[in-house]
Amino acid sequence: MSTVLIIGAGGVGRVVTHKCVMNKKVFTKIVLASRRISSCEKIQSELEEGAITVAQVDADNVAQTTELIKSTGASLVINVALPYQDLTIMDACLNANVAYLDTANYEHPDTAKFEYKEQWAKHEEFKAKGLLALLGSGFDPGVTNVFCAYAQKHYFDEIHTIDILDCNDGDHGYPFATNFNPEINLREVSSKGRYWENGKWIETDPMEFKMKWDYPEVGERDSYLLYHEEMESLVKHIKGLKRIRFFMTFGESYLTHLKCLENVGMLRIDEVEVNGVKVVPLQLLKELLPDPSSLGERTKGKTNIGIVAEGLKNGIKKRIYIYQISDHEACYKEVKSQAVSYTTGVPAMIGAKLMLEGKWSGAGTLNMEEFDPDPFMKELNEQGLPWQVKEL
Ligand code: NDP
Repeated sequence: MSTVLIIGAGGVGRVVTHKCVMNKKVFTKIVLASRRISSCEKIQSELEEGAITVAQVDADNVAQTTELIKSTGASLVINVALPYQDLTIMDACLNANVAYLDTANYEHPDTAKFEYKEQWAKHEEFKAKGLLALLGSGFDPGVTNVFCAYAQKHYFDEIHTIDILDCNDGDHGYPFATNFNPEINLREVSSKGRYWENGKWIETDPMEFKMKWDYPEVGERDSYLLYHEEMESLVKHIKGLKRIRFFMTFGESYLTHLKCLENVGMLRIDEVEVNGVKVVPLQLLKELLPDPSSLGERTKGKTNIGIVAEGLKNGIKKRIYIYQISDHEACYKEVKSQAVSYTTGVPAMIGAKLMLEGKWSGAGTLNMEEFDPDPFMKELNEQGLPWQVKEL
């Protein structure tokens, strides 16, 4: 008997909830809570009667969140609200003595910084209570970290370089929209790029560095170097690593819109006053753009996310590519969400499943690559995210 509390009834929350219901042998009671009860009820209406219960919570409020966790009797909280709520939900888990899982590292609403620092600072507190806080159990971070751990375990004595390659080739038919929360997405892609080489972080201008990559079942696409949070933990945990980079594909039209929005100041995250009212331009833009959860129905095409690792095995150089391909329309058919939410929500459910089954255990704030990758890789194949390995 395990009760799970899912916080955040957005695009990813929908997938996590559907997938937990499909695994109800493990998740015997499921509670979905969010800032607006209506968001939870919408997801509840897609499921068979009695499959989940719903609750309202402001996860910025630690006392309220603690109270909710205690009242549900949950043994694990899956946080798929926004990165701004990570610290308050972690504190509520500590208060209520329950395990924690999320898919994105903490971000301060006023500064677009992607760092584990503040979450890792809670390591000793979680450890002292014998509780596990699993950080970054989405796709990237998440599956990409597990791919790296799998490569390290089965293919290499030493990995020297890793490139993480993220391609979303979906077409939703709108001139401009983001596939997950626009505020979080646009903060990420408009930030400076950064990669790690020979023990140092090297900064680039946004979208300064581009390469072409031929993504299986998608084709050759322009891929731009970005900073992405999983690199911060991977540089600590992958043996012999000399360089790690992250690339994401963007179409020309997306980049033109992005540049224009940036040039006119619509990506600013500071407040500006309009007729006596304070507004954050990026938040206003979020209200104007299509709701990512409405894109599912219209999106066609595929995602392909993977890693290319190069290093040594028995003194011989080798290079492998591990990747996962998802189809937007197939994801929508299964759980009423497009592939970006699907590829994030399924790994969140898998991480939670492994924790509740005791296959992934430990105490403290731990990242995905610190666990045995094999049970996770097996679940990916069984839960809708089949992957492949190619020797290059
Ligand atoms: P959405 O904006 O669709 O959903 C976020 C949900 O969080 C909303 O339903 C909102 O509630 C809820 N929420 C916001 N503030 C609060 C609060 N104070 N208290 C309670 N609930 C709150 O985002 P996504 O579903 O696209 O993303 C969810 C998470 O997944 C994000 O952290 C994102 O960064 C992460 N992510 C990770 C990826 C990965 O691969 N690792 C990829 C994509 C996303 P309501 O509707 O009730 O107002």
